[in-house]
Amino acid sequence: MDYKAIRKPEAQKMKVMPNLADYEQVSKNFRWEDIHKELDWLPGGFLNKAHECIDRHAKGSRRDKLALLWEGKSGDRETYTFGQLKDETNRFANVLKGMGVVKGDRVFFFMERVPELYIALFGALKVGAIVGPLFSAFGPDPVRDRLLDSGAKVLVTQPDLRRRIAQILPTLPQLKHIIVVNKGQRGPNPLSNGDLSYEALMSDASSSFDIAKTSMYDYSIMHYTSGTTGKPKGAVHRHMAVIQQYATGRWVLDLHEDDIYWCTADPGWVTGTSYGMLAPWSNGITQVIYEGGFRASAWYEMIQKYKVTVWYTAPTAIRMLMKAGDEVPKHYDLSSLRYINSVGEPLNPEAIVWGLPVFNQAIHDNWWQTETGAILIGNYPAMDVRPGSMGKPIPGIEAGILDDNYDQLPHGKEGHLAIRPGWPSMFHTYWGNQELYNSRFRKGWYITGDRARRDESGYFWFVGRTDDVINTAGHLVGPFEVESALIEHPAVAEAGVIGKPDPIAMEVVKAFVSLKDGHEPSEQLRNEIMRFARQKLAAAVAPREIEFVPSLPKTRSGKIMRRLLKARELGLPEGDTSTLEED
Ligand code: AMP
Repeated sequence: MDYKAIRKPEAQKMKVMPNLADYEQVSKNFRWEDIHKELDWLPGGFLNKAHECIDRHAKGSRRDKLALLWEGKSGDRETYTFGQLKDETNRFANVLKGMGVVKGDRVFFFMERVPELYIALFGALKVGAIVGPLFSAFGPDPVRDRLLDSGAKVLVTQPDLRRRIAQILPTLPQLKHIIVVNKGQRGPNPLSNGDLSYEALMSDASSSFDIAKTSMYDYSIMHYTSGTTGKPKGAVHRHMAVIQQYATGRWVLDLHEDDIYWCTADPGWVTGTSYGMLAPWSNGITQVIYEGGFRASAWYEMIQKYKVTVWYTAPTAIRMLMKAGDEVPKHYDLSSLRYINSVGEPLNPEAIVWGLPVFNQAIHDNWWQTETGAILIGNYPAMDVRPGSMGKPIPGIEAGILDDNYDQLPHGKEGHLAIRPGWPSMFHTYWGNQELYNSRFRKGWYITGDRARRDESGYFWFVGRTDDVINTAGHLVGPFEVESALIEHPAVAEAGVIGKPDPIAMEVVKAFVSLKDGHEPSEQLRNEIMRFARQKLAAAVAPREIEFVPSLPKTRSGKIMRRLLKARELGLPEGDTSTLEED
């Protein structure tokens, strides 16, 4: 299963000179303080994400530059310049201030990907509130859990979503205000008792506002993690995270002034804020937001229509594009694409190989988590891609592979992936659960909960979540390796692999497999896939059992929930399923 490295030309010979042209050189004497100087800061040394992402550009040469190109579900379009965003976010900041919202209050958002979400969220940052975006497909229970846990004072929502969660709203004593944005509705805002109309509030609000004096250490945003393994917890980030979001926007996404950037993640998940708001806008880049969901043809069309140059998406989406077939992309002009990144799950080598002729380039994998706030390990434009590898740590980051005593392992050995604390976008607590936060640190390392190995050239290779790793007859098997081998079979669309308890081997590898259109489950196909896997993997690692399933359980952010596959297999309680994507 050795995939050849995808070689890159020298940086100087590339059409667009990469921002990080010499990774080794930049990493060598790197100091975060040097990046501090590239931000604008507020007078007196204060720092606010909204200033760095919007006002800084609006007061300078980017005032009339497009910040947001929005396309709604039904095809309607809106555009906003940095100057317009400044005025609108100022208005919303005044709205909140008028309600008595002060620094540290929690303001939550339960909205579709509409421009008002972006405006309201940055407006709330301007008053110094801690913002919490929630995924719009949530049902009432996950919304209540998060609003209760965070003690949110204000909820900004839309009529249909408001109706969906109506029964939980009286059970939230700390929730003082509900603001309803009438987007997508005909006629006047259908307000319920006591609700406030966004449009009415905004029309009365002034477009001048002095941003709150937030320090770099003040809290700015909280995200409940997607919970592939346990109950969601609110990871809290500080304003200083923008330093790293800005830097990784340059180095990893390679954003340049004229780029048109599209991040497909929803702001209900950390990628949708760190890279769907903060990284592009702190770099002053124009970005596309598409309200609609996934459809292969619609996505290809977005790239063609808006001439997207830099694209940040996820392995599930790429596997779905693969599933839709090679014919669909032939109907679209994708030649604007200059650079493609992926995050959220391991990017199977097969997906990179598939993408090469379709996009005329490699897809670049990178690794990070809700807790890390920004990319920590990545592939870079000027560095060879080794398919299946997450790449190398960004400048300023020390990543280690540790044994079970949290001591460093040599190159080539598998162990706990750990990071030296102190990077700017590191989370600062789990809301209301400092003990759990403290438990993530050992012997001077942040323990990520992932297993990985580092090769002799310093590339990191993902093995699996610590909880997902399978121990079969003394061999530790990462589910990713087995899943990647399975999806190389032409009939396999997706695979999820678990360890099933076994009296002799402790665990055996069991695979759940969904098939591509045009293939039906059969005993013959099962045997063929088993044989195929045994040829690709060592016999001890290949699945002992394969079960065909119509689809795999995933989080709403697209991660395969192996924990759930296992619980269902063993007839155990399913635990927290608030982030499960329903079919
Ligand atoms: P979340 O906090 O929900 O964003 O999930 C973070 C987890 O997703 C990581 O700890 C990994 O288990 C997984 N993940 C994210 N990016 C990658 C990647 N590039 N390769 C492998 N796993 C990834």
